[in-house]
Amino acid sequence: MTVTSPPSPILPGATIGFLGGGQLGRMTAFAARSMGYDIHVLDPEASCATRPVASRTITAPFNDVAAAIELASQCDVVTLEIEQIHPDVLDAVASRTALRPGRDPVYIIQDRIRQKQWLKAQGFPLGNFVAAQQASDVADAVRSFGPCIAKSTHGGYDGRGQVRLSEPEQGDGAWSALGSRECLVEQKVDIHYELSVLVARSPSGAVAVYPPSRNHHTSGVLTWAVVPAVISDDMTSRAQTLARNVAERIGIVGLLAVECFVTTGGELLVNELAPRPHNTYHHSERGLATSQFEQLVRAICDLPLGSTELFAPSAIANLLGDVWLQDTAPDMSYALQVPGSRVHLYGKAGARAGRKMGHLSAVGDTAQDALGRVLDCYRRLSPGTIASFDVHEPVLSHISS
Ligand code: ATP
Ligand code: MG
Repeated sequence: MTVTSPPSPILPGATIGFLGGGQLGRMTAFAARSMGYDIHVLDPEASCATRPVASRTITAPFNDVAAAIELASQCDVVTLEIEQIHPDVLDAVASRTALRPGRDPVYIIQDRIRQKQWLKAQGFPLGNFVAAQQASDVADAVRSFGPCIAKSTHGGYDGRGQVRLSEPEQGDGAWSALGSRECLVEQKVDIHYELSVLVARSPSGAVAVYPPSRNHHTSGVLTWAVVPAVISDDMTSRAQTLARNVAERIGIVGLLAVECFVTTGGELLVNELAPRPHNTYHHSERGLATSQFEQLVRAICDLPLGSTELFAPSAIANLLGDVWLQDTAPDMSYALQVPGSRVHLYGKAGARAGRKMGHLSAVGDTAQDALGRVLDCYRRLSPGTIASFDVHEPVLSHISS
């Protein structure tokens, strides 16, 4: 079959297909709708979060080649909001329409070991890791590195598919907890703080790099993110250069989020990559000239990339299902009295502990102000869950240091 490239740019009126219909697809679809595009989505869940924003939903798993071909046949460009798409599906879509990002970066990123080995081969800075082929490899890693985190190669997110271990004797348990199959074992990094940098790249190679976001996780799940990151100019430029280099080397078209650790020794390390919109840049909708969602649409449609200029310090706090499982219902009216705050819900039925249901955002005069507001908003919404949030006043002063 002869593959013809679509005319570039892909203009409003065209149809964008999404592999994956979770909240990232939903928010990107809102942005695309605002710009005049039609949306089709493929997701295993019939009632996925993107469904209300799409004119067509195909319910199928991410390894269903026939369903993916059906999606591709009606779309001018197909993108993805989750990296766990079967390579056969990526190939099938790419042979019929523009797939952005393309197969190669997604293939590298979707396997944690392949991703780490690729980053290492390219010379990007990483913590120590091994690819464990058997339980004894996990134990050996702890013997040589000290405390470690074992991670499944596929499908982990929000800290799932990970086991923390500090003694070699825990190797067998970690190996079986991860399904007794090949896994990644990383040395536990001595983290001073966490950053991410989002990069957008268009088919013609134009690049836009976002200001770094400062991020806080609790038990492996993002709790809040704020921009600006309140870091030195030197760290800003090191992180942006690193992210840009990774995006160009891997040949992303669309978005690439580079999650980083800054160690207590001041080293900047890559944690992991995501070839799609990222939870740590939800504040881009509030405080930056171009939201990550609009930017993805611009990039995949080969429109000029938007400015990444900071208009207002902004922060987000995630709303997990736990908020709805309290004795008292979340008090939206009280929470939204906080100036500059907004609530973003993903329309998911069925709150479960740890499930991302939405987020809060706030803008402020400074990063501390924006973060203080969003946390105040969170406390008002759900005073009962703030304890597990692991964020207290010292965090606010910490980011000013
Ligand atoms: P997400 O979907 O939120 O990106 P994930 O499930 O892909 O998360 P990681 O990014 O690997 O998981 O880890 C989540 C968090 O756990 C990190 O942001 C960090 O706080 C902590 N973490 C992960 N790996 C390490 C490590 N090697 N050393 C120290 N902390 C780590
Ligand atoms: Mg991560």
